[in-house]
Amino acid sequence: MKKLIIANWKMNPKTAREASALAQAVAKGARRFARKVEVVLAPPFTFLVLPTIASVKAGGLSLKLGAQDVFWEREGAYTGEVSVAQLKSVGASYVIVGHSERRAFSETNEMVHKKLLAVLKNGMYAVLCVGEQERKKETAFPPLVREELYEGLHGIPKPLLRRLIVVYEPVWAISGHGVGADKPKDVFEMTILIRRELVRLIGKKRAMRTPILYGGSVDEKNSAQFVGEGRVDGLLVGGASLRPKSFIGIVRSVSEMSK
Ligand code: 13P
Repeated sequence: MKKLIIANWKMNPKTAREASALAQAVAKGARRFARKVEVVLAPPFTFLVLPTIASVKAGGLSLKLGAQDVFWEREGAYTGEVSVAQLKSVGASYVIVGHSERRAFSETNEMVHKKLLAVLKNGMYAVLCVGEQERKKETAFPPLVREELYEGLHGIPKPLLRRLIVVYEPVWAISGHGVGADKPKDVFEMTILIRRELVRLIGKKRAMRTPILYGGSVDEKNSAQFVGEGRVDGLLVGGASLRPKSFIGIVRSVSEMSK
């Protein structure tokens, strides 16, 4: 299975011109690693429709497009929201759901569940983010992560889960929160616990095939360790995805790990 690296641009960059330049630089640099690494760009909604960004996908550069959020209703009077069909129609195939920065704006597990269902029902990849608020003191499975998984996934028909991706992204490790990235060894332990929980929730076969990614202060220096020692199936990158050199460095290091 190819490693998956998702660039979450969050609310960056400031202008369409900068977004175009960033996408082109990344597409050019990441192209030669396409055999081993799947790269997904998740820009703000507005930039998804820029011709330069759309062409990153259409131009055969092997990058995929994703969105950072979505609304679960199909259409109608929902001011400010964007539907799954709308995202699909502009070429996005991945949607990040339940990012902690959205949960911080009162997004509940119930809302995350509805979004997951809408994304998966429409044949797009759902990237479900889970993670605890504070650095863990022991190796026990954080109850919050268990709850996020259970409430997010319960009741979703198994065949739809083929396009589920789970990201372990502890809130305390996201840049700007102070302590830096998690340790690859601890990430490895967490992914085992998450997979075990997935086995319970969605069955062994599906759980073993669900990619588990890590996110939180990933850069070109630590990325190889997360994939090597941390044994994750990919990475969700915030800050470093805005710097082409760093981001391409991450893609390169992950590609070299996946011999
Ligand atoms: P940083 O890589 O900036 O820590 O952000 C992580 C993140 O939130 C990606 O979704």
